[in-house]
Parts: sequence; C-alpha cells; structure tokens
Amino acid sequence: MKVLKFGGTSVGTPESLSNVRAIVESQSEPCVVTVSALGGITDRLIAAADQAAAGGDVYSGIFDEIYSRHRRVCEAVVPSGYQGEAWGAVKSLLDELETILKAINLLGEITERTRDLVVSYGERMSCIIVTSMIADARLAHSLDFIRTRRSFGKNVLDSETSHKLIMSKFSELKDAKTIIVPGFIARDEDGRISNLGRGGSDYTAAIIAAEIGARVLEIWTDVDGFMSADPRIVGDAMVIDRLSFVEAMELCNFGAKVVYPPTIYPVFHKNIPIIIKNTFNPTAAGTLIGDDHNARVIENPEAIGVSSIADTRLVTLTQPTAESYSRMINLFSRNGIETMMPDGHKHCGIRGTDARRAEELLNEEFASELLELGNFGIRISEPMATVAIIGRGQESTDLPSRLAKTLNSAGIPVSQTPQQVSPGSAACMVAATDLKEAVQTIHANFIQNTTVQ
Ligand code: ADP
Ligand code: ASP
Ligand code: MG
Repeated sequence: MKVLKFGGTSVGTPESLSNVRAIVESQSEPCVVTVSALGGITDRLIAAADQAAAGGDVYSGIFDEIYSRHRRVCEAVVPSGYQGEAWGAVKSLLDELETILKAINLLGEITERTRDLVVSYGERMSCIIVTSMIADARLAHSLDFIRTRRSFGKNVLDSETSHKLIMSKFSELKDAKTIIVPGFIARDEDGRISNLGRGGSDYTAAIIAAEIGARVLEIWTDVDGFMSADPRIVGDAMVIDRLSFVEAMELCNFGAKVVYPPTIYPVFHKNIPIIIKNTFNPTAAGTLIGDDHNARVIENPEAIGVSSIADTRLVTLTQPTAESYSRMINLFSRNGIETMMPDGHKHCGIRGTDARRAEELLNEEFASELLELGNFGIRISEPMATVAIIGRGQESTDLPSRLAKTLNSAGIPVSQTPQQVSPGSAACMVAATDLKEAVQTIHANFIQNTTVQ
C-alpha cells in the first residue's frame, strides 16, 4: 500500500489533473491519494471570508471566481457519465459556501472557526472532482477520521482519536484499489470543522501513511524534488537525491515549503520513506527521504541546503536579570510559542504570527520588573527573516562565525549573532529586505561547489 499526495500545484488545472489521473491509474498496488484544494483556492476562500466580514460586495466577485473555476475544471476533467453527479455535489457545496459568506457579510465579523469552515470547502470540492475523475476510486472523508484539539489557541492533531477512527475507516475500505482523501481538513472535539494548518495536506497524507503502515509516502508537487534552496530564490538550486529524516526535518523547520514540517515525524517514527516527485515531470527520480543509514555521502559535509523563514521577530530582553531569560523561554514553551535560535542570554527568535501574543505574555510575566527595574526592557523587532544553513550533522563549531563573515562580506548585516541550531547547522536573522540576497549568498558560498557522490 502506498500513499500519494497531490498538492494544490498538482490539482490546479485540467492539464495538471490529467497528469494526476495518469499517475494514479498507472499504480500497480492499492493506494491512498490525498488531495489539496485546487491551486490558489485556499487563499481565495480566505480572501472571500475576510472581504465578506469587511462589508461591501467584493466577496461576491471572489465567490463567482471560485464558482466558475470549479465549474470549468469539473466540466473539463470529469468523464461525461459522472458529470451530473459530480457537479451536483460540488454545486451544493458552493451553494452552502455562498450562504455562509452572505451570513458573514450580514454580521460584519468573522471568527476563527467560521474562517476554518470557509477554507474547508476547497478540499471538500477538490476531492469530489478527483474521485469522479479516476476509475474505481472511492472517497474516504478526512472529516470522518482526522480529529484535532485546541492547544494554546491552535488546532493540533488528536492522535489517539484519529488513530481509532482511521483504523476503523480503512478496515472498511480494505478491498479498495484507490482511496481518495481530502487533505488539510479535520474536525475538532466539538465536531466542528477545523484543519491541520496551511500546507497541512502533506501532514494528512503522512498521518494516514503511518497509521496504515504504508510502504512509501509520495509527495507529488511542482518541482523535481527537495532542492538545496527555494528555487524561486536561487535559480540554480540543485535537487538533493537523498536526505535523512532529520536533515529534511531541519530544512522544513527553517522554512523549506516543499514539505509541511509536522509531516515528517509520523513517517519517521514508522520508518516509512518519503519520495518527493514532480507531477509535471514524473520520470524524474525525485528526492528520497529515508532512514539515516541510507543518507548519501556528500563531498562538502556542511552543505545540504539553505532554508529561510520570511516573517520572524527578534525578541530582546534589555538588561535581563540572572533568571529572566530562562523565565522568558519557559513562558514561551508553556504557551506553545516556538522559539528559534535562543542565545541563552537575551535574544531569541519567534514567528511573526506569535508576536502579539508573545508581547502580551511578556508584559504580564515581567510586569513588576518593567515597573521596578529602570533598565529592564522587552523589545520585539519589526518583521525580519531567518536564514539557516543545514549541514549533515557533523560537528562544525565555527559554522556560525563563518556564516556571519560570509554575510557581512556581502554587505548583509546580521541582526543576531548566528547560532548553532544543531551540530552541523547554523541560523541567523537578517533584515526582511535582505532575505533573498542572504539565501543566494549562503547558497553560492557554502553549497554551489558541493558535489554529490
Ligand atoms: P504543493 O501545492 O504541491 O503542496 P507547495 O507550494 O506547498 O506545493 O510546495 C512546493 C514549492 O515549495 C515549490 O514550488 C518551491 O517553490 C517551494 N520550495 C521552497 N523551498 C524548497 C526547496 N528547498 N526545495 C523544493 N521546493 C522548495
Ligand atoms: N489547501 C491548503 C493550503 O493551501 C492545504 C494544502 O494545500 O496543503 O494551505
Ligand atoms: Mg504544500
């Protein structure tokens, strides 16, 4: 059994969907196929919801665009005998969506749960189209078996409940050749629609792969594999043929968008390999992410890839007391705020999306210090970027200083002393406007001349 995941980039147009059909129908073993919303639709659904809440009629134009896109795709890819049924099902979801958008517009406000409901329509519609398009495919709805719970204001997987539900659903479907599953969407403990976070279809696929003990998880996207940098930033980034789970995890945690970070853990845990493949170039070998022992040898041990996170903030404690730094790190950890590059003294990085909450928490935690200690202060920077060079695990203690030197020589100021983030990897923060140049500089200096053996 195999799990294949096709992202929005692969299910965006009738042409790409016909590639998906060819890839799925050529499989010689039973498979689960996880699909995202049609490319770009999740963003449009969010825009429609926000515009509806803002008042005015802009949202209805966005809705019309979503409607006609699905209509066109459905007409183009679903075989004529299944057209009526497929479009009927998609149309009834579109009607529901329109009613919800109208209600948001009337109320003039939107809650996070309502936004989650609106974005769910993307995958709920795409899975109907893909199921109708592929011979003998059966639909297994993630809303029936992926459960989330709230943790620090975020939806996280409820592994225990999901485990039971997945086992029962997939044992019902044990004779099916192709099972289509919408990615990303889930239900919470109250039965309301939630999701696994942006990019979460990869995670849905990995959760199912781990539960059913799949032989392999294939992530089909629009690039030839995991590359040494984001190809949109570094034009001559190279495809990496093999990565260990840990290396892939580090690259993803520092922003390599090709795989959603939580994806790797469930399959790593079960030692199920991941292959990154290109829907538009299916014969390319792709990248194999697997057990550490299989990791290939690379001539320059410190150079696997460069990753970057666009919106990060530097948190600084000015004149910290002896224990205030550890109190800050504990405070963030207790409240589910991920910290990056803690320097153990006064700085750490956080994601931009956590900035407001971090500020509230810090002001509360250090209320008396802020009042009583004249020099004590808390600063959260403007949006900045984090860049990371990911190595192969070999200890390289001077990597942070060489990273700083390389960036400084290229005229890129480093806002925080680069930190060692694992034995062979280092990261630092630069101005948001320097992100592109910083990634290109690191790639040119540390990776470009690397040869793969
Ligand atoms: P999908 O819709 O298939 O989930 P995503 O847009 O989420 O696709 O991920 C694929 C994109 O990730 C690529 O088009 C590429 O621009 C970007 N990307 C960022 N970093 C990397 C990297 N290191 N290797 C490959 N692709 C990357
Ligand atoms: N459609 C969702 C998103 O755009 C999930 C995914 O594509 O993985 O974030
Ligand atoms: Mg993705």
